[in-house]
Amino acid sequence: MSTLYKWGAGRDPDHPVITDAYDEYLVTEDGEEIIDAAAGAAVVNLGHSPDGVDEVMAEQASRVGYTSTSYFTSPPVDSLSEKLAAMTPGSLNTTFLSNSGSEAVESAIKLARDYHVARGEPEREAVIGRWQGYHGATLGALSASGNTGRRTTYKPYLQDWPKIGPAYPYRWEYSGSPEEQAKAAAGELETLIKQEGPETVAAFIAEPVSGSSIPVAHPHPRYYQEVRRICDEYGVLFIADEVMVGFGRTGTMFASEHFDVVPDMLTLGKGMSAGFAPISATMIRDELLEPLEDAEHSFYHGHTFSGNPIATAVADHVVDRYTPELLANARARGEQLVDGLAPLRDSSIVGDIRQLGLMVGVEFVADPETGEAFDPDLGVYKQIFERAFEEGVYTYPGGGSVDGHRGDHLMLAPPLTLGEDVADEISRTVVNAVTDVE
Ligand code: PLP
Repeated sequence: MSTLYKWGAGRDPDHPVITDAYDEYLVTEDGEEIIDAAAGAAVVNLGHSPDGVDEVMAEQASRVGYTSTSYFTSPPVDSLSEKLAAMTPGSLNTTFLSNSGSEAVESAIKLARDYHVARGEPEREAVIGRWQGYHGATLGALSASGNTGRRTTYKPYLQDWPKIGPAYPYRWEYSGSPEEQAKAAAGELETLIKQEGPETVAAFIAEPVSGSSIPVAHPHPRYYQEVRRICDEYGVLFIADEVMVGFGRTGTMFASEHFDVVPDMLTLGKGMSAGFAPISATMIRDELLEPLEDAEHSFYHGHTFSGNPIATAVADHVVDRYTPELLANARARGEQLVDGLAPLRDSSIVGDIRQLGLMVGVEFVADPETGEAFDPDLGVYKQIFERAFEEGVYTYPGGGSVDGHRGDHLMLAPPLTLGEDVADEISRTVVNAVTDVE
């Protein structure tokens, strides 16, 4: 018998087999229905019903299923690129297509390097990231990531790029107003750039709202405004990784909009096809491409399936579905979810509840007064995840990790199409699960 090798060396033959899905529900081979309160992996933003995607796929497959984007283009590639340029802020007008979030990040890292080399600053190599940040599983993206649990074994293969602390107001030790704290935290970037030598730093990468490692941690807007100022001052490119939070997840089309900041590059994935096909994008500011126009050797980079016409046709159809009404529903359901979790504010194991749009993070701690984390061996988040799953709700499990501290979290990131009744059922189930484990 063969088994599929999974994340975390999992070969558990008991994992549920999903044969069908609709709206907010996954259906197992035994006909059991599970509420997908994680939208897969914060991917299935439009829910599990195809809403015309199946017809788009069939139509595109009947015309042309593959062309190499190193020489050709196709109507869906042209159409999607135009839409993304119009949807994204500022002069992020050029699209480079790939197949996964990790690849979108790799592309941004390489392009940052090309930009500096073309401008005659080849010693700019480092990509500064943040502890607890997650940008992908491939080696460049993982080098820029600070999720220690996912890095440990692969350290020998990773670039030794410097990092600042996470944008994690719940655990910040800065004093003053939220704005003053945000300014101080962003100041870590300036200090590090100066320590490293600005002439050695190519880029800074961050998730504007963090996802898998510290669900929904987000600072006062001043943080990213300072980041923008610092990057400009030292000639460092700012890459906003919106693979998880782009396309309406935080209640605005892109999370950077909350902070009123336009990055130099924006990476997109997940919600771009709402899960119906693997596709991602790196959006690039016009100004970055100018020095590359006359460069002799630049951006020799691409993937065989970049801009695959079927995946691109799907994304071209899906991005039109992120309407103002859908985003308004995301905001309303997010508030409803967090209202439903209100009983947890008095729980003896809940330290923080964070929400932005339809993204909710709950942080479990041994002592809510001090924020002391649980011993990771207790697996508190796993127990809560399993309890909720037994009651038919799949949540996004998380045990973030930073050197010396490992957090226990749970994230809710259901489809943006979430209905009121299902939202109530999700919060009720999570409250019961936490109460049972408490
Ligand atoms: N960047 C962020 C912010 C992510 O959350 C993820 C995945 O969770 C990635 C990059 C990597 O994307 P993928 O798993 O599609 O390679």
